[in-house]
Amino acid sequence: MFKKVLIANRGEIALRIHRACKELGISTVAVHSTADENAMHVRLADESVCIGPPAPKDSYLNIPAIISAAEITGAEAIHPGYGFLSENARFSEIVAAHNITFIGPSAEHIRVMGDKIAAKDAVGKAGVPLVPGSDGEVTTIEEARAAAEKIGYPVLVKAASGGGGRGMKLAPTAADLSEAFSTAKAESKAAFGDDAVYLEKYLTMPRHIEIQILADSHGNVVQLGERDCSLQRRNQKVLEEALSPILTDSDRVKIGETVRKAIEKLGYLGAGTIEFLYENGEFYFIEMNTRLQVEHPITEQVTDVDIVREQIKVATGAKLSFAQDDIKFKGHAIECRINAEDPKTFRPSPGTVTHFHAPGGPGVRFDSAVYTGYKIPPYYDSMIGKLIVWADNRELCIARLKRALAEMALIGVDTTIPLFIDLIDNPAFQKGDYHIHWLEHWLEDS
Ligand code: ADP
Repeated sequence: MFKKVLIANRGEIALRIHRACKELGISTVAVHSTADENAMHVRLADESVCIGPPAPKDSYLNIPAIISAAEITGAEAIHPGYGFLSENARFSEIVAAHNITFIGPSAEHIRVMGDKIAAKDAVGKAGVPLVPGSDGEVTTIEEARAAAEKIGYPVLVKAASGGGGRGMKLAPTAADLSEAFSTAKAESKAAFGDDAVYLEKYLTMPRHIEIQILADSHGNVVQLGERDCSLQRRNQKVLEEALSPILTDSDRVKIGETVRKAIEKLGYLGAGTIEFLYENGEFYFIEMNTRLQVEHPITEQVTDVDIVREQIKVATGAKLSFAQDDIKFKGHAIECRINAEDPKTFRPSPGTVTHFHAPGGPGVRFDSAVYTGYKIPPYYDSMIGKLIVWADNRELCIARLKRALAEMALIGVDTTIPLFIDLIDNPAFQKGDYHIHWLEHWLEDS
């Protein structure tokens, strides 16, 4: 086992990784920007190193500063968390070149899955069902037109390097294609430095269902079931459930096994998530994330697997602690992403948390780095905590979530807590009857 791990992240995920390390007897090194001097991950870590000014490019994305911090402190491994450098193949190569272990998959897997065209090709060949689309990149409007005719409108123009819902443009009809094609290209060039785009059939009312996998370096792959992340705003997840309220057991086994076999074929290492759209009983692959995901705790709650602990263990070359047959799903879990934002306008609300009281009791987990007196800096993502609730079944889980939301006090900044209080009272939500556009419609109407 590693003796010392550097955590190249901040906020709740830095704390989550710190906790997993401590339980494995590993000492931790926190890195932080000048804006995060008093952050909880810095306070709890065994050592900390300031790596630069507030702007992410100068600190949490500053590769030389992070490598220096690891060398100075003698860390043997780096955990990248999610976001920041977690899906940067070059970073993982640089880490390895300094004889430090990158806790994650190979640079090659990060690179392939980071390019959505290459990813579709790789997983398609490994037997995973895809969204009907263009045959790879479309470089000219003529090519786009021909591909769209074949696919059938509406089509989505998507950036090969896209992420966070950016670089995606809808063309409802042939008349809209030219504009969608040029704006997607321009947006992608500006955001990702790459203007490669491809076309996909636009699914009108799908759900977003993703499968969590874990793999070791001995060829063992285990799938941990699905998460339903259909409640989204601007293609960003807001509330997630495990397992999905609508999937049948036979569909669950079928897609889980397809994914497990594909990951085995790809020779992947560590934690990963294969994301699908699900419509009319069919799964369509959209992308693979080669890192830990924000919503991983709901899977931990229904499987009793500590995903971060396993990630660290397999990075040392150890085998997974369990086999597929050991995974038994129990009960239901829901996660609410609590953001420091106005719950109506979604305007970020940085500032000082003047009073904080965490919810507790049976089945309640609050993953957060917030404390009374904490000053939320304006430079980073506005998510400040994740409320994760587990119960024997979905109905009890919703009742428990309602109780936990009412218990929580987070005063001094605006938060999205009121949004969740309203949302979980909605009859459609309670029936599990929603798709990826449902939340936006509900927000517009309420
Ligand atoms: P990103 O990497 O930017 O998050 P994804 O490919 O994962 O992009 O898609 C994000 C979200 O965009 C999906 O969860 C879904 O809501 C929507 N989306 C993506 N592809 C399609 C599609 N072919 N049809 C309809 N919606 C889509």
